Amino acid sequence: MDTIAFIGLGHMGKPMALNLIKAGHALQVYDVLESSMAELRQAGARSFSSSAESVRGARVVFTMLPASEHVRQVYEGPHGLLQAVEPGTLLVDCSTIEAQVSQDLAAQAAQRGLAMLDAPVSGGTAGAAAGTLTFIVGGEAQALEQARPYLEIMGKAVFHAGKAGAGQVAKICNNMLLGILMAGTSEALALGAAHGLDPQVLSSIIARSSGRNWATELYNPWPGVMPDAPASREYEGGFGTALMLKDLGLATDAAVRQHSATPLGELARNLYALHAAQGNEKLDFSSILKLYRNRS
Ligand code: NAD
Repeated sequence: MDTIAFIGLGHMGKPMALNLIKAGHALQVYDVLESSMAELRQAGARSFSSSAESVRGARVVFTMLPASEHVRQVYEGPHGLLQAVEPGTLLVDCSTIEAQVSQDLAAQAAQRGLAMLDAPVSGGTAGAAAGTLTFIVGGEAQALEQARPYLEIMGKAVFHAGKAGAGQVAKICNNMLLGILMAGTSEALALGAAHGLDPQVLSSIIARSSGRNWATELYNPWPGVMPDAPASREYEGGFGTALMLKDLGLATDAAVRQHSATPLGELARNLYALHAAQGNEKLDFSSILKLYRNRS
């Protein structure tokens, strides 16, 4: 049994931390929202009133925070984790943030003799609860091997993408493609439906033809085609439009930084921005279908 600190107990962090407890580890937790620590306490975790206190005596620290600014806030400054942790502690940030911020924090950690990994995840809240996440890791291979036993409790696939920040780059490449695929799938289904095709039949045709993709086969955006998809429960739950918009913004920033051309990624970002501005930011991202669907 190891002592593990877990900071950021939202939609993803809470189920991930619960899985570490179930595997027999001692959890020390912190979240700015006091209410989000209650369930963890009930499950046997010790909660603290600051992130700095929560990492005392921890062998490894996990963070699962919304965006770059929150991660900087938690790690940097006189009360930040980079100052607060004990020598030898392994730092693993699972948030999806700018690759540049992950690189910068890993460099600061290295200056203090600490190893830090960026380990963003794919698999959503269902994967976090089931312990089937995919971890996409950037950082030193040796640090990844230290983290692997814990990552394998929370996930079923662990990839080493490369050096610090590489996990973030790989994650946003995947999510940029996902955003494009979902918009393209919605466009194709809406075109077919406008011509009187049954979206269920059209989806079956695409699934056995050259346009097949994850969105049509496993996460269909048309209501009723897949009973378990968010589209069939009014786009509740799942992966929010606001989070997809954040990831597409990270992809755009990354493209600008390297002078890369991502015209489809940028178009997708604009489509999701328009969709979010129409009051859909809390709905699952497959609700982008609403932008295309004829009202008739
Ligand atoms: P969330 O907003 O539900 O949870 C974030 C938690 O961090 C909240 O409980 C918040 O109170 C806490 N927090 C914020 N600032 C803090 C601070 N300074 N100190 C301590 N706690 C603080 O977000 P989430 O859905 O759990 O997502 C977390 C990260 O995982 C994001 O980067 C997101 O992009 C990524 N992600 C989410 C999903 C998903 O389906 N929700 C899937 C893959 C990746």
